[in-house]
Amino acid sequence: MTESEVAIVGGGLAGLQAACLLQAAGVDFILFEARNRLGGRILTVDAAGLPCDDGFDLGPSWFWPRVQPAIGELVAELGLPAFAQNSVGDVVFERMSREGPRRYRAVDPEPQSLRLVGGTAALVRALARELPPECVQLGAHVTAMALTGKGVELAVARADGLPETHTATQVIAALPPRLLEATVAFTPAQEAAAARRWSDTPTWMAPHAKFFALYERPFWRAAGLSGTAQSMVGPMAEMHDATTASGHAALFGFPGVAVEQRAALGEAALARAGVEQFVRIFGAAAGAPVATVFKDWATDPFTATAMDRIPAGHPVPGAAPWVSEAWRQRLVLAGSETSPSEPDFLAGAVVAAGRAVGGVLAKRGSGGGRG
Ligand SMILES: Cc1cc2nc3c(=O)[nH]c(=O)nc-3n(C[C@H](O)[C@H](O)[C@H](O)COP(=O)(O)OP(=O)(O)OC[C@H]3O[C@@H](n4cnc5c(N)ncnc54)[C@H](O)[C@@H]3O)c2cc1C
Repeated sequence: MTESEVAIVGGGLAGLQAACLLQAAGVDFILFEARNRLGGRILTVDAAGLPCDDGFDLGPSWFWPRVQPAIGELVAELGLPAFAQNSVGDVVFERMSREGPRRYRAVDPEPQSLRLVGGTAALVRALARELPPECVQLGAHVTAMALTGKGVELAVARADGLPETHTATQVIAALPPRLLEATVAFTPAQEAAAARRWSDTPTWMAPHAKFFALYERPFWRAAGLSGTAQSMVGPMAEMHDATTASGHAALFGFPGVAVEQRAALGEAALARAGVEQFVRIFGAAAGAPVATVFKDWATDPFTATAMDRIPAGHPVPGAAPWVSEAWRQRLVLAGSETSPSEPDFLAGAVVAAGRAVGGVLAKRGSGGGRG
């Protein structure tokens, strides 16, 4: 049995930001992350699809500091360099298979989408550097939480197969609420209204996938194309230039086919069809990628549930509490989807983490702390 004052469940952006805020406030905490890496939906990989320091974003790639200041301020505070998403050149629209794709002059993007040098995982590395390594446990899957007289008992299934029980005075659940409802058992159970709110909150982008084709050079730029394209033919519905700040060239697309069709087609066939589409849209040079990389978030059990197979919009903001009365002194939610502003985005994760830590510190001050 181990213990800490605060337990954070989830090491995505929200959990890491919460950990950094607790660390700065001098609060004893531990962060449990189910995967064997930090970052959650933030995942930057190399040509082999492995996490790396300078690569391609299989999860989020853009942020908009002008309209989402919370993420802009965090990036600035961490001193992370950013660059603009390439938008120089024409955009292409593929309307139907019997007429060729058509080029259009692009309008200036507003607001400008920014990317981090090295990839979005630069944010994860910068936050993780602030944390004592012994306070972060990877391969630690929280499967249950139970209220005790003094706090919360968490059941943790570890990658090495050894189960652990951890007690904490307060818990910050920094994961999508729908995933929390589907995969973590609560004793006592959350009341029906809270449980329904969790499962009714779609996990942003969980039904989606990303396909990358890597090239020697960003040849489309020389042809006056920005790399941005839309298609009603498929398999990609939306495409963009994914070339890194260090010059590694790539195009990426969001497949417009549903998760069942993606599974039926298989990754190899989808990649072949994706490359054929890139040839139609960006020219013959697209036919010889040096590598392709594919990530289907809908089949990742630490992001998506069965309910996330159907794409849905952003959550409707509501005043109803996220947590049942019995749990309110001990549990606070911090996944991006629970943010009062910019829910679902990177910015939302930063806001939700700040709000959760504020709540933890307030309860501590009012006697809800250790004891
Ligand atoms: C393909 C894609 C593209 C996106 N594009 C953008 C974009 O361009 N801009 C933008 O702002 N946002 C974008 N997003 C959304 C953005 O990624 C999220 O808003 C943000 O990363 C959410 O962070 P989080 O910490 O709230 O959740 P997550 O990143 O989901 O982190 C939750 C963490 O909890 C862990 N976990 C889950 N269950 C347990 C458990 N039981 N025990 C322990 N750990 C657990 C998970 O492994 C994960 O690490 C995109 C997302 C995807 C998937």
